[in-house]
Amino acid sequence: MRAALVTVYVAAALLAAAYAVLSWRRRHLSPLATSLSVITAGGALWSLAQSVAITAASPAVARVGTYAMFPGVAMIIAGFLWHTSVFTGRRPGRLALLLVHPVLLVAVVLTDPWHHAFFSSITSHPDGGVTPHPGWAYWLHAAYCYAMLALGTARATGAMRRAVHGHRRVFVIFLGGALVPAVGNLVSLFVAVGDRQADLTPVLFLVTATMWWWAERSGVPARRLPVAYKQVIAALSDAVMVLDPDGQFLDVNPAAAEMLAALNPASTGAVVGRPWSEIAGRQLASVLTGTDEQTVAANGRMYDVRVVRMHAADGGSPGTVVVVRDVTELERLRAELTDHAVRDGLTGVFNRRHLTAVLRDQVHEAGPLSAVMIDVDHFKAVNDTYGHAVGDEVLTRLAQEISDAAGPAAVVARYGGEEFAVILPGVAGKAAADLVEQWRLRCAQLSVATRLGPLRVTFSAGVAQLASTADAEDLLRRADRALYAAKEQGRNRVVCDTAARSSPPSRVPAAS
Ligand code: GH3
Ligand code: MG
Ligand code: MG
Repeated sequence: MRAALVTVYVAAALLAAAYAVLSWRRRHLSPLATSLSVITAGGALWSLAQSVAITAASPAVARVGTYAMFPGVAMIIAGFLWHTSVFTGRRPGRLALLLVHPVLLVAVVLTDPWHHAFFSSITSHPDGGVTPHPGWAYWLHAAYCYAMLALGTARATGAMRRAVHGHRRVFVIFLGGALVPAVGNLVSLFVAVGDRQADLTPVLFLVTATMWWWAERSGVPARRLPVAYKQVIAALSDAVMVLDPDGQFLDVNPAAAEMLAALNPASTGAVVGRPWSEIAGRQLASVLTGTDEQTVAANGRMYDVRVVRMHAADGGSPGTVVVVRDVTELERLRAELTDHAVRDGLTGVFNRRHLTAVLRDQVHEAGPLSAVMIDVDHFKAVNDTYGHAVGDEVLTRLAQEISDAAGPAAVVARYGGEEFAVILPGVAGKAAADLVEQWRLRCAQLSVATRLGPLRVTFSAGVAQLASTADAEDLLRRADRALYAAKEQGRNRVVCDTAARSSPPSRVPAAS
């Protein structure tokens, strides 16, 4: 029995030492290699010391073997904590703190023959063996070791619970590895050879090291990245779909599954393995053969579709990734913003900037074009008598009335405070003046209720037709001149540019 045990200890010590050296040489390749090296070196020392303690022919040698185990134990505990920190992705805190226990332990063990704090006494046996009796320092050391083992295990368990699906297996291996020597340590309490205790823990650390080595080499780094990617893809609100070269689904993220179900109710259920043309719905079916970026309307929604053809190192294409983003709301907001940019905030008709831009485009079109300038008569008095709020309402009602009267082809804009400008494409000056005369009559009928009774207002208007010079500013200037003439002639009337007699200084600045 003893010979077999010694063989096991020595073999374990040699194996662990080899392990420690190999691991140490890999320290630049893996963040877990250094701590694994410390653990296995500790295991080697512990095993060797055990073999000495168990085979010693004299109590003096057995004593040395017994004491020599503890630096090995300390190395294992420090290495375990370090390893757990790295493995669970914690920042390895202050590594120097891990040295406190081993240094103190070595100091206590070396001086034990004088103070007997570690072993209060050591009984010698006739066969050369010894039985140590633990002192307070031993119990302190043991308590520290078990506390640290518990801490490391708790950290690993916590990390396992937080780990993503598919990554947990690695933590199970890790915890299983830690469990093996712990169980061995307990079992060893009941194993004795003669008078000498035979602790199998250091040997079992080889099992631990092998399991961890396996977890590290085959598991962690290789597995973490794809698992992380999968989680990221799953978290995206964009629909991500992977297709094989034949256009069959290889994978979809949850957003894609939801979108596909909405687009094509017949596609519910597992889509993997089924063809794109069958699942994607009528409107999206053709995107695979189209350009790489498309906007597709389907089911009353707008989708931005990106088709990414994958490339393999050998030049082949292992398939296609289709990413679809629902841009319905974005498009609605964009349209709303665009509309806001061209509208007057109070009246809802176009603003001056938009009118100027339209006019600049329109002057180059073939056919007649007229511009109308409208100014409310005595509007100051409206404000003064009825208040600004009523003034605002009058402006809004007038703008609405003119818009309705002018029809969809006309561009009605608020040009200034109580001035409106209208562009009438395809309408000659005289016909335009007749039209505006109708608007004037309509607007004169408008009645706005106020606390002082119904309010009616009139406007004056100037009309001009585009000259052959195709000059937008000149057109507006002439319409404004005609408006001025209308005011001059007593207001509440329409004056056509050709009929404008007086030529006051222009009120229209160069169009901005
Ligand atoms: P005229 O017949 O000569 O055009 O007389 P008027 O009183 O309309 O003359 P004027 O152009 O000098 O006055 C325009 C007034 O319109 C002055 C200003 O207080 C008012 N006004 C300008 N913008 C607004 C607005 O957004 N809301 C209201 N309520 N009043 C405005
Ligand atoms: Mg005015
Ligand atoms: Mg006015």
